[in-house]
Amino acid sequence: MISHEMIDKAARLISGCKRVTALSGAGVSAESGISTYRDAGGLWDRYPEGSSGGILAVMTNHPEDAPQILMGFLEGIKKAKPNPGHRALVDLEEMGYLRAVITQNVDNLHREAGSSQVFEMHGNLYRLRCLKCNKKEIMGREPYFKMLEELINKMTRFSLEEIASNLPSCSCGGSARPDAVAFGEPVQDLPEAMAEAKACDLMLILGTSGVVYPAASLPGVAQSGGAKLIEINPQQSALTGRCDLFLEGKTGEILPRIVSSLREIQGKNIIPPES
Ligand code: NAD
Ligand code: ZN
Repeated sequence: MISHEMIDKAARLISGCKRVTALSGAGVSAESGISTYRDAGGLWDRYPEGSSGGILAVMTNHPEDAPQILMGFLEGIKKAKPNPGHRALVDLEEMGYLRAVITQNVDNLHREAGSSQVFEMHGNLYRLRCLKCNKKEIMGREPYFKMLEELINKMTRFSLEEIASNLPSCSCGGSARPDAVAFGEPVQDLPEAMAEAKACDLMLILGTSGVVYPAASLPGVAQSGGAKLIEINPQQSALTGRCDLFLEGKTGEILPRIVSSLREIQGKNIIPPES
């Protein structure tokens, strides 16, 4: 377990900052039961072509496995609730340190936890986007999973044409698709994410392998603007080398400890009223 000294060091760095930004990846949702892609047993571990071509490449190469792959991912997401890591980020916002969460996750858990400024670079699986009029609409959990499960249950093997012909309809008559960014598609919220990275004085790099671009370039942008970098991950990532502090462990365990330590620091800084 990471030492109290390391947690205290992170809390002291944060306590001296006014504008902290978090960059989160799949690891932050791992403790909510959603598998990351690259870790042992993850999708890319089982289907290595995924790391260079994404989930569509996996399903194109293994069309008969597609219903089970999609159902597996959906099962994890369906049961997932925000974990102590997501909630600690809300605490950091309420304490006045954290200004924004930039996430690569599509699972909506930062918003569900209560973070108010969330930039979703890879979209949001709960949002539907009309392919004709571009209208975006967030769907409720229950109807959303019902719709997707019906769609997957109809599939015997992967076929983009079949998926396209079974998509829900928009009021304009067009088809609406889940608004998650597929491999090769442009990311979302990039100007906002860039602006946050440039303006922050500290970036928390949480549960990301740091190999998916352009999200992986944001810590460099922050650092060029003078920001400190703190990373939390059970394993070193492609970004560890440039970080000021690396805390080896799970975000759901370490972030709440940092919040407690910050509360202690804040408590000590309160000047007692004159008697
Ligand atoms: P990744 O799968 O490439 O890497 C996950 C990282 O999380 C690894 O570095 C791993 O060591 C770390 N990790 C594992 N458990 C952790 C924990 N408990 N606490 C902290 N860190 C932990 O993830 P990525 O870099 O975010 O990129 C993968 C892509 O896959 C992204 O584009 C993302 O959109 C997508 N994805 C999203 C979800 C989701 O929405 N929850 C899940 C899987 C993949
Ligand atoms: Zn429409």
